[in-house]
Amino acid sequence: MAQQDQFKNLIAHCKEYGFIFQSSEVYDGLSAVYDYGPYGVELKNNLKDYWWASMVQMHEDIVGLDSAIFMHPKTWKASGHVDAFNDPLIDNKDSNKRYRADVLVEEAMEKIQKKIDKEVKKAQKRFGDEFDQEQFVSTHPRVSRYTEEIASIRERLATSMSNNDMPALKQLIEDLDIADPESGTRNWTDVRQFNLMFSTQLGNIAGEEGKLYLRPETTQGIFVNFLNVQKTTRQKLPFGIAQIGKAFRNEIVARQFIFRMREFEQMEMQFFVRPGEEMKWYEYWKESRMKWHKALGHTDSELRFHDHDNLAHYANAAVDIEFQFPFGFKELEGIHSRTDFDLSRHQELSGRKLQYFDPEVNESYVPYVVETSIGADRMFLAAMTHALQEETVPDADGKESTRTVLKLHPAIAPVQVAVLPLLKNREELTKAARDVFDKLKFSFQCQYDEKDAIGRRYRRQDAIGTPYCITIDFETLDDHTVTIRERDSLKQERIHIDQIADIVRKRVGRESLLRR
Ligand code: ATP
Repeated sequence: MAQQDQFKNLIAHCKEYGFIFQSSEVYDGLSAVYDYGPYGVELKNNLKDYWWASMVQMHEDIVGLDSAIFMHPKTWKASGHVDAFNDPLIDNKDSNKRYRADVLVEEAMEKIQKKIDKEVKKAQKRFGDEFDQEQFVSTHPRVSRYTEEIASIRERLATSMSNNDMPALKQLIEDLDIADPESGTRNWTDVRQFNLMFSTQLGNIAGEEGKLYLRPETTQGIFVNFLNVQKTTRQKLPFGIAQIGKAFRNEIVARQFIFRMREFEQMEMQFFVRPGEEMKWYEYWKESRMKWHKALGHTDSELRFHDHDNLAHYANAAVDIEFQFPFGFKELEGIHSRTDFDLSRHQELSGRKLQYFDPEVNESYVPYVVETSIGADRMFLAAMTHALQEETVPDADGKESTRTVLKLHPAIAPVQVAVLPLLKNREELTKAARDVFDKLKFSFQCQYDEKDAIGRRYRRQDAIGTPYCITIDFETLDDHTVTIRERDSLKQERIHIDQIADIVRKRVGRESLLRR
């Protein structure tokens, strides 16, 4: 399926099956804001629970926090967000469309990369097993030229971004001859910086004094609470603080569904370490986070690391875990070595010491920090991208048909087990099914469904990713056995009612994910 169709299907599926709705849809929607429906909220909660358990429950040296969205305005001055949390924007004067200037340049690089990929594919076909890709890429004249071109654009982009040199960025757009995809013209405004923070006003204070920001990241709540948490939990370095919560960014270009939203949720963990030990922990968290993703069944070809070309003002090393979304490889999670930048700045602006006394070296210092930061919504999109499949399966009458199935890891499925009486108009069956449901609901997220033919009910459960369906039929009334149907293999087995919980628990329990 073409990538664009795959993406359209995914969005339609999310709406049709109650995973995600556009916010305020009755008023024609609010751009880049979304609501999670009944199955969406279950899936998102399961992803958040998996993250929380793997961080807090599985690490004695990581503790949790839930800090407020509003923070003292000085927080954002200290963190650099007031002065530097900007994206460079550019408008096309003919279409009146607004773009991120750096994204236009990145897209131009992607186009050149596609040319390289095409040449490689052609050569691969021509040379077959003999093909040595590394040698081809480094020696083929056209491909080498493209590679050099990309490197030079990347360098110019990085320099203009880190020097905050907007005229240089505009020049780059002109030199690359980038046209507006909408109007096709090159009639651009100058590039200017746009601050991404939303602001609001405290009720009782007028003017700048009362200006509050909606937090653009959850991280700063962790930094300002660093000593509160360390002292009350008596943690020794290295230790971490984890938090899940909403963040807000006034994104310039907010397309691509829940990939880039104006209100979203982050799962962030700050790991405080001794200065000088940050690179060791950076490597540790890189590897640990990649394992976390792979435990969900995401494959090597869906995930990759991407080192930052352009380091943020606070970082001395940074890497993204990118996922292959339907619109290409894009950032899913960031792992950043943030040095002592944030704590030092809060120390400076608040006038309070934010230092740790290290009994081993008998010295106080501002710790260094390695952060892992992932968007819960992007994680949701990655899980859906991976799981949503169409496949041909045998019918009950031996023919073939297509089914839409959501092959989510069983431990994150919105419904873990569905209980289905074979017929809805036979009270003895519905009663027996209700009894099974009432037993299982204490241990699992269950659903009782009696509407429509059994085949259609199975398909409905496949489409929302339910790993197990339990069918109650006349045999059940005689011998207390049921049919258990497994989503992926479609295998149906006859088991005793008392065995259901054990079988289901083995696959839907989080343990398999956490043991990885
Ligand atoms: P991008 O380059 O895509 O704008 P970023 O580098 O600004 O992302 P970070 O500030 O590192 O992102 O935020 C950490 C994580 O938060 C990201 O990896 C992403 O998963 C998530 N995130 C950031 N911005 C958004 C958004 N607008 N909508 C949804 N998730 C987001």
